[in-house]
Amino acid sequence: MNILFLGAPGSGKGTQSKNIENEFNIPQISTGDLLRAETASGSKLGEELKEIMSSGKFVSDDIVLELVSKKITSNDCKEGFILDGFPRNISQASSLDNLLNKLDVALEHVFLIDVPTDLIIKRCVGRITCDTCGKIENEYFSDYKEGDSCGDGVFVKRADDNEETVTNRLKVYSEQTEPIIDYYEKKGILHRITGGEDGPERLTQEIITIINN
Ligand code: ADP
Repeated sequence: MNILFLGAPGSGKGTQSKNIENEFNIPQISTGDLLRAETASGSKLGEELKEIMSSGKFVSDDIVLELVSKKITSNDCKEGFILDGFPRNISQASSLDNLLNKLDVALEHVFLIDVPTDLIIKRCVGRITCDTCGKIENEYFSDYKEGDSCGDGVFVKRADDNEETVTNRLKVYSEQTEPIIDYYEKKGILHRITGGEDGPERLTQEIITIINN
């Protein structure tokens, strides 16, 4: 099972990918997480990535393609994968097609998560992530705050989740990522689902139903 999540920053791709990973036991490949792991390593590349990501721009296609190829061709992904945050532009979408053709596998479902823009900004600016298990909460919609214990680790804020960078990320999303919606719609594998203020569970159930059907 090979699936892909599309959506603006803060639309809930990461949360849904993790829920679907748990449900079907297929690994999530999040380019954002892979890139943040590189920045946390303190390498020279990590330092360069940190600067690009904290401005809200995209990292170069070569770097993300290498990260994704390594994961997709690994043993973990033998039964399938969940792509989260890749592809993000037409060139990445066509590189992904080439890679999947070589491996003789196909994407089965692309889920586009639609969320109103005002909600997106609140979701990003309030987002906190456990530094150990990766659980995501929101300061506006839960009782958790940055620095609180999650049970596993401590909730931290991402460097790019401030209002200025989020506004930039939304602009880059509409200019570069939105065109690939059409790309997948034409292939007939796109499902539009709408996220709102009612928490992630309803959406997870919708996705599971689509996959099982
Ligand atoms: P979000 O989707 O919430 O913006 P991510 O964690 O997916 O967050 O990505 C964070 C940042 O990592 C992006 O703003 C971008 O700088 C970089 N990034 C992630 N995926 C890609 C990609 N496929 N191509 C280029 N840059 C990427």
